[in-house]
Amino acid sequence: MTTEQLRNYIDGAWETSASDELLDVRNPATGEVIAQTPLSTSDEVDAAVAAARGAFDDWRETPPAERARAMFRLKALMEEHFEDLSRTIVLEHGKILDEARGEVRRAIENVDMALGMPSLMMGYNAEDISSGIDETCIYQPVGPFVCVAPFNFPAMVPFWFLPTAVTCGNTYIVKPSETCPISQNRIFELLDEADFPPGVVNLINGSRDVVDALLTHPDIAGVSFVGSTPVARHIYATAAAHGKRAQCQAGAKNCLVVMPDADLDRTVAALLTSAFGNAGQRCLAGALVLAVGEVYEPLRDRLVERAALLKMGNGMDESVQVGPVTTRRSLERILGYTQQGLDEGARLVLDGRGVQVDGHPGGYFVGPTIFDGVDPGMAIAREEIFGPVLGIIPVDDFDAALAVIDDIPFGNAASLFTASGRWAREFRYRARVGNIGINIGVAAPVATFPFAGMKDSFFGDTHGQGRDGIHFFTDRKVVIERWF
Ligand code: NAD
Repeated sequence: MTTEQLRNYIDGAWETSASDELLDVRNPATGEVIAQTPLSTSDEVDAAVAAARGAFDDWRETPPAERARAMFRLKALMEEHFEDLSRTIVLEHGKILDEARGEVRRAIENVDMALGMPSLMMGYNAEDISSGIDETCIYQPVGPFVCVAPFNFPAMVPFWFLPTAVTCGNTYIVKPSETCPISQNRIFELLDEADFPPGVVNLINGSRDVVDALLTHPDIAGVSFVGSTPVARHIYATAAAHGKRAQCQAGAKNCLVVMPDADLDRTVAALLTSAFGNAGQRCLAGALVLAVGEVYEPLRDRLVERAALLKMGNGMDESVQVGPVTTRRSLERILGYTQQGLDEGARLVLDGRGVQVDGHPGGYFVGPTIFDGVDPGMAIAREEIFGPVLGIIPVDDFDAALAVIDDIPFGNAASLFTASGRWAREFRYRARVGNIGINIGVAAPVATFPFAGMKDSFFGDTHGQGRDGIHFFTDRKVVIERWF
């Protein structure tokens, strides 16, 4: 691929940004520059908002079935381009091809859900709330919404929101991650081909300045943010200060609890995928194994033995199991945490540093890394590393495992591995996290359920997916009628 400057898509047209500030986008497997992201100007932000605002009145009056038909066209195009979208994700992000295909499938599933909007956004009514008086609740679209996306699922995350928002009758602006903007750019080529009216969907490239300009713009109704916790706090506060709806999905530190009665082979397989899939760059990645009682030593030994066999390399190679991390900065952060774990006194039982991949001297590779003897108070047990680093904490019993989960500031996900229905029920009931896995390593909700989160992993009042998404993207209007 030659180096291209990515363009903005505003009011139904592709436009080259006037900005001379460009960020390089690199292929993580090689370090080569593959595109450039413009940091768009404030005039371009204003133009995107004006386009979204201008298109809103007609779009909200477009019957929901017609809005869904545009989504049908998009779905067909995404299916047709499934493989090239997947390969684009590998190229800009580094994850392996199978994981990229999973990401595109999940993006399409959100389109699938939105196709049902003509019935999903129907209101409800009650006759005779008082004698001769009827009450009706109507769902109405709100206006232009924005998505601010992270780098780790560059194609899927905006699609957690855009299909629902747009099919509900709102207009939309996506601000992709400046690190991985290409796949969203490709999807917008498909949105263009699907023939949405100009201004209904818009894409603007940039980083924090673009985000702040969108968040403070009077014509923006709300924001869906997905990214790190410090930025989520900033987005939530800024959106609230400007009277906008906000849902901010943030960082994570997820625990995988293994009970002595768990099926060890299946558990180890699930733990490896959870910790090292997507090179650990997943907000649902397992970061800590809480090994209960006597399972600790056999579990640790098997985990280390199996993790050491995972094949690293370029995600385009179908035999590879772990690709590079996405940026040199991520690589340096992960190596920094590895050193910090050693300094804190944890035992490095699998060292992923210094991995060399043949023919890829410039790639950002770090292998599966496992620390044993981790204490819950260590930084490597409390902070998000966002890489293929797993810590093992031995705990005496189930309650001790729950206490560790409770004490972690994040509340995105946790999993329990057990053969006992009683422990499973107890875990589901008591663990203070949004997404629970029972004998599942990556508890990723499908499009018809909310992607939940608690504590420092979510800021907002309602989630963006499933039925919650329809609530977020609509106003409720209540009509009380008496006819004389
Ligand atoms: P990030 O917070 O650095 O960036 C996310 C987005 O925010 C980008 O589009 C970026 O341009 C913008 N941004 C960055 N700094 C900003 C600022 N100061 N003001 C305004 N906008 C700003 O996150 P990332 O590194 O791209 O993604 C990784 C993070 O995302 C991890 O913490 C991961 O856990 C989290 N994540 C969470 C979920 C979830 O559902 N909870 C899902 C995926 C990723």
